[in-house]
Amino acid sequence: SKDRGRNTYNFYTHQMNHDMNRRLRVEEQLRSALKRKELEVYFQPFVDIRSRKIIGAEALLRWNSDLLGQVTPDEFIPIAEQTGLIVSIGQFVIENAFTAAKKWQLEFNPHFKIAINVSPKQFRENTFVDMLKIQLDIHQINATSVELEITEGVLLSGDPIIDSNLSWINDIGVSISMDDFGTGYSSLSYLRSYPFNTLKVDKSFIHDITVDPGDLELVGAAIAMGHGLNLTVVAEGVETEEQYHLLNALKCDYGQGYLFSKPLPRAAFEELLKTQAKN
Ligand code: C2E
Ligand code: CA
Ligand code: CA
Ligand code: CA
Repeated sequence: SKDRGRNTYNFYTHQMNHDMNRRLRVEEQLRSALKRKELEVYFQPFVDIRSRKIIGAEALLRWNSDLLGQVTPDEFIPIAEQTGLIVSIGQFVIENAFTAAKKWQLEFNPHFKIAINVSPKQFRENTFVDMLKIQLDIHQINATSVELEITEGVLLSGDPIIDSNLSWINDIGVSISMDDFGTGYSSLSYLRSYPFNTLKVDKSFIHDITVDPGDLELVGAAIAMGHGLNLTVVAEGVETEEQYHLLNALKCDYGQGYLFSKPLPRAAFEELLKTQAKN
């Protein structure tokens, strides 16, 4: 048993070394990813549940590293956060998303909505609101067509700058969406205290609505509560027609998920809009 203890110890140190090396390699490559043009903004449509028409897109970052291959956002976004790289990367996402959204507003729908994920460090920057205003101005984007998706992690720090940034954003007319609703501990109290416009029900609740009556009940309650608070409700991770029909019956406003489309490169997303315009 002494031996087994030692082996377990070796296993853990080995695993920790491995994780640490990977992390360092990712960090090192991420530092030059922007300069090397390895980052690309993809777009996933969200549709109006009743008409099934595309009304906007969520910008989702992709990183195809020369050295590491495809690295998922779930791996590199936290590292971008910890290193502060998220500030320049976040601005890159906004520039690309606004450029594409402006084109689609001119060519397809003047009210086309663009949703952008903002992480805690990014949101706590005192230059964030100014940067946002400048980008809205440069791209001539109407603030009301922009939505910032934040998770409760953004609000958790209690930093006073969060409050002032939120009210500035609200004042200029940009919408704020609570992402991953239902997965945190404090979503409800945050909904009460902050000026949210949209509630995005986490995909983990949508996944089983056709088989788990409890999940169906929870999603129905979240939608009803959102509407009671005058919020737009979005379901993420819609993968099947059955899920779609239940969400329609529950009067969910918008849906997003593989059933409608995976996140796509800009040109492919534009093809989708063209196809829709023809029908
Ligand atoms: P998120 O904001 O919750 O984004 C939704 C995730 O669900 C995306 O993963 C999307 O590709 C995936 N998804 C969409 N439809 C379906 C579906 O029908 N089924 C399933 N199983 N998944 C679906 P992705 O693109 O890998 O992004 C993961 C997370 O990384 C995002 O979660 C977000 O928190 C973060 N992220 C991505 N892009 C950015 C960015 O530009 N800035 C920041 N700060 N975070 C980002
Ligand atoms: Ca999101
Ligand atoms: Ca989400
Ligand atoms: Ca998520």
